Amino acid sequence: MELQHKSFSPYVPKKGEEYMNPKQREHFRTILESVKQELSQDIDRTVHTMQDEATIFADPNDRATQESDMALELRNRDRERKLIKKIEETIARINKDDYGYCENCGVEIGLKRLEARPTATLCIDCKTLDELREKQVAK
Ligand SMILES: [Zn+2]
Repeated sequence: MELQHKSFSPYVPKKGEEYMNPKQREHFRTILESVKQELSQDIDRTVHTMQDEATIFADPNDRATQESDMALELRNRDRERKLIKKIEETIARINKDDYGYCENCGVEIGLKRLEARPTATLCIDCKTLDELREKQVAK
């Protein structure tokens, strides 16, 4: 599960700029913080909606629809909570100066890849291998 966003303007590094210097870390921290905030607000909103909608419908069909709506809603919330956790872990890595390097082989993940997937922990090569391995296990 990786985070994808489109609403931020990408960081444009100066020529010869050091990878993951404080300015770059700040850029990704800002992205992660604001996505996290968005997700948290979304979760709050759902909780309120569900409380508002806790009506008991007389018609069993209505009731069934309401229940499956809620189940779907809860699954989405669960996904969002996991995403928030991942974002928090990523911010912690920024704080520890660990951000932007592949967890597996240690190479730079690269600004471009992080820009598209700020929570990425693997370089594209390791990620590809990882996915291949997952597919083999699934068979
Ligand atoms: Zn790697």
